[in-house]
Amino acid sequence: MAKEAKLLPVHVLGDNILRTKCEPVTVFDKELQEFAHDLVYTMYRRDGVGFAANQGGRNICMFAMDTEWGKEEGKPHPRVLINPKIISAEGEYEYEEGCISVPGVYAKVKRYQRITYSYQDLDGKMHEETAEDFEAVVIQHETDHLNALLFIDHLSSLARLKLKLKLREIEKTSVNGVNIRQDIFVATD
Ligand code: ZN
Repeated sequence: MAKEAKLLPVHVLGDNILRTKCEPVTVFDKELQEFAHDLVYTMYRRDGVGFAANQGGRNICMFAMDTEWGKEEGKPHPRVLINPKIISAEGEYEYEEGCISVPGVYAKVKRYQRITYSYQDLDGKMHEETAEDFEAVVIQHETDHLNALLFIDHLSSLARLKLKLKLREIEKTSVNGVNIRQDIFVATD
């Protein structure tokens, strides 16, 4: 029987793991599949549309996403992308983004409107696909995480300045790598 998925601790702004580049995944085994389940489970429990491995405390190149989640009558449609790479990108698309690791902060970010990207699935098989608009935003946001970037890095210095106090407040909740205030997240149980 498959092991029950567990809720991963969410690492928040101020934690070094979010500012460290992730290592490529090279072994596609049962343990990786179990971790993928934990990623997906934690993403839903934290009400996110994407969740990267380093947000959950592991410095490896993979993330979970579900752009249908939260939509009216949206059914869970989780995906796990491993070693993702954006191959080409075009256009411009602005969306108000948020992040499980930067709770309570939302800001408009300009990204590419259409991307072609590659990734491996849980069996290690390569895929190449294109995405547009919101789906493209999520993939760019999550791929950023694996490269040690956060959505707030894309903001103008003025926009960041406006968020300074809020960001500092979040940083204070991160001690020795783990957020100490679970209450900053909306409890779902
Ligand atoms: Zn994020």
